[in-house]
Amino acid sequence: MTLLRRHLGVILACILCAAGLPFAAPPAADAAPGDLRVSDIRAWTNEIYTRVAIDTGEEVSWQANTLRADPARGLPPRIFIDIRGAGIQDEILRKPVEVRNGLLRQVRVGRFDRGTVRVVIDLERESTYRVFALPGPFRIIVDIDGEGEIPVPPPPADSAVSAAPAAIPPPVESPRVAALQPATIRKHPVRVMIDPGHGGKDPGAIGPTGLKEKDVVLEIGRKIREKLSRSGEFDVRMTRDEDVFIPLEERTAMANKGRADIFVSLHINASRNQRAEGFSTYVLSRGASNREDLELAARENGVPIRKFQGVKFIIDDMFTGARKNESLRLAKTVNDAVVRHVSTRYPGVHTLGLKQAPFYVLVGARMTAVLVEASFISNAREESRLRDPSCLDGIADGVVEAIRYYGQNGILAYSDY
Ligand SMILES: [Zn+2]
Repeated sequence: MTLLRRHLGVILACILCAAGLPFAAPPAADAAPGDLRVSDIRAWTNEIYTRVAIDTGEEVSWQANTLRADPARGLPPRIFIDIRGAGIQDEILRKPVEVRNGLLRQVRVGRFDRGTVRVVIDLERESTYRVFALPGPFRIIVDIDGEGEIPVPPPPADSAVSAAPAAIPPPVESPRVAALQPATIRKHPVRVMIDPGHGGKDPGAIGPTGLKEKDVVLEIGRKIREKLSRSGEFDVRMTRDEDVFIPLEERTAMANKGRADIFVSLHINASRNQRAEGFSTYVLSRGASNREDLELAARENGVPIRKFQGVKFIIDDMFTGARKNESLRLAKTVNDAVVRHVSTRYPGVHTLGLKQAPFYVLVGARMTAVLVEASFISNAREESRLRDPSCLDGIADGVVEAIRYYGQNGILAYSDY
């Protein structure tokens, strides 16, 4: 990433010097109105997926649009985002991004007119894309899908499957429903991205005696990786393996870029009610069924509850039915297995079951994705359990068992995009 940014920086500066660009670049000393600044451009990309994050810190007014390729002028298909009332931090002008990987050619940024910053994403080919913003700090996220619609598998030929054709919804609605047929052989080990929440400056929730969520989930994540890697059937990676801060959108992007089949975000719950207890596992949804879940999502997202509205529409748009069904199925399997394993060490463990809430870290995930809330660090008894390595082993064993079960049941047949 660091390399990518540096590389981009050099290219961007060159582009802005060139003639014929859509930017009307004013002198560098020409400050934009207000203090809003595009302070960073970040990108994660492979040949079929790109996420670009545009950091402004404060909320800005923005608009996205596209331009088709213009062969006569030698211009590729472009996505551009105009940000009004903003300036650009000078360093950004000096660090653009060139990729040329078959999907993304480069990202460049400049002043379109006085008070409008234009970020242009030059694509290698026509692609579908989605743009949305996340608050706290404000950033605009562009997800580019180089495959467009996921191809629909051919109709099954054998009678066992064709006996129930009516169970397959129209492909436009949910093409991945065919993944439920356990017929296809995967071409690669199941790729699992384990995401220990928080880290670095963000401790997550803190227990009554000072235990930090970020430390507990990192320990659980390492145990999962160690246990799951033993057989060689799984390619296990972690979004972080040390005490560092990673923005939520970067975690999702790491899973997408790495073409993970399964994404598991690890967290420990907390509540103002010190008696609240139990394990729950979540999938992404646009809202929550109760106040506690909404408060939980707000805390995990690092934003006040009132900031949720803007995210609702993107979740509906981005989440296909089939993938959600797979996520629901994995989430239930994970929660049941975790509770069972921890119960052998600590009888009487509570389960809160499978739940849904708007977690930013799951937005835009291209794979089966769940978020585990492994008991309450705010509950003194559960906090003391979380200091016990055998409890963490139990949590890890549960997640591992669920992923094995899920991976072995053919559910991932079409996930190798
Ligand atoms: Zn958390």
